[in-house]
Amino acid sequence: MRQIAIDGCGVAGLTAASLLFQRGMRVSLRAEKRATPHPMIVAVPQDSLTLLQEIWLLPELTLNFGRRLARRRVAWETETFESLDATTTVFDPRDLAAALFDELPRGVKAAPSQGANEFVVIARGRSASETETVIAGARQAVVGRMDEARLFDRDAISIASTSVGWLFASPSPHGDAAVMLVRPGERQCRDQAEDLNHATHRIFGADAAVECVVGCQPNFTYPIGEGRLRIGDATVAMDPLRGDGVGNAVRSALLAQACIGAGLTPHALEHFVARQALLFVRHVKQTIDHYARCRHASIWRGEIEMMRQAIGLVVPLIRPAALRFTLCGRNLVASHPNGRSESQKGSSQKSSQNPESGGDAKLRS
Ligand SMILES: Cc1cc2nc3c(=O)[nH]c(=O)nc-3n(C[C@H](O)[C@H](O)[C@H](O)COP(=O)(O)OP(=O)(O)OC[C@H]3O[C@@H](n4cnc5c(N)ncnc54)[C@H](O)[C@@H]3O)c2cc1C
Repeated sequence: MRQIAIDGCGVAGLTAASLLFQRGMRVSLRAEKRATPHPMIVAVPQDSLTLLQEIWLLPELTLNFGRRLARRRVAWETETFESLDATTTVFDPRDLAAALFDELPRGVKAAPSQGANEFVVIARGRSASETETVIAGARQAVVGRMDEARLFDRDAISIASTSVGWLFASPSPHGDAAVMLVRPGERQCRDQAEDLNHATHRIFGADAAVECVVGCQPNFTYPIGEGRLRIGDATVAMDPLRGDGVGNAVRSALLAQACIGAGLTPHALEHFVARQALLFVRHVKQTIDHYARCRHASIWRGEIEMMRQAIGLVVPLIRPAALRFTLCGRNLVASHPNGRSESQKGSSQKSSQNPESGGDAKLRS
């Protein structure tokens, strides 16, 4: 029986642990003693939430600790907010991790942490300090709270481009509102706190109680090495404004367990690397697009240049694979050159149904 050690108890590590255990592997979780250091509210779109619920068989997942919002209000280029239909659920990722930890099969927690043929899955979250990391920009997030009553719309997330960066405000599940300013470059904390207060005051007429400053630059870290594989933010950390982080953490855990289940062959690992690299490149291109078209695009010029350079470094990893794979449910299946998979003959698999490509998944069947 293969023994897998997982470093990190965020959504990626916990999802991989549960899925690998269900495959009959011995799984041990290595959690760092300190909890995630700062409070945060993340917004997760419905397709990612559905995937999470399908994997964990938790249809009521959001009811306990999340808050469902009906809209996004976006001011990309002007001071006028545009309302978009985009259902999303906001929650503190620490609440999610605690709920998933409770759902873990008991065998995972009880498993020994050392073994002879141990394979390590690294799920430690953002890895900006590691030397093999490609950084796309150098932004910081100032995170705070404000009075929910000040929000124009308590059923929506509001995003606005301001002269100091992107302001993000959301009603939180705790009855107040979370605010975040994502700004380019690196500055002293005191300046950043002033910037957050200034921006929230101007747009919402409220002051923010600043809680922390978080490094949040997108990055890509080479996902494999001898005897190890990286998942979640440890491989691809995304721009926080895009709201793709939790969904990506779940998808990369799903793909990683499928690769491990397929026997960790060189072709399967090559597929994993190429998928993660492709995801990063697509994500950074979309992010460049957003920053380039906002009203205050000039403050993002340096970031955009760094993002372009990062794309150039990662693109060579997206090689045409010698063997193509498709993720069918929880399994990696080798495809024919025409794109059909061994187990899917006669049925075309639309990309929107493939969890690897960001769509919904039907994993229970
Ligand atoms: C400011 C900000 C805003 C964001 N907003 C959104 C959003 O709106 N929507 C969204 O989807 N995503 C958002 N994200 C991203 C999202 O939080 C992450 O993508 C997601 O939490 C990644 O999950 P993970 O399991 O990979 O990592 P994490 O959730 O970071 O979990 C990693 C775990 O590993 C542990 N660990 C660290 N080092 C070690 C070690 N050496 N040994 C053992 N354990 C270790 C940590 O304590 C932690 O528990 C945001 C991120 C930031 C920074």
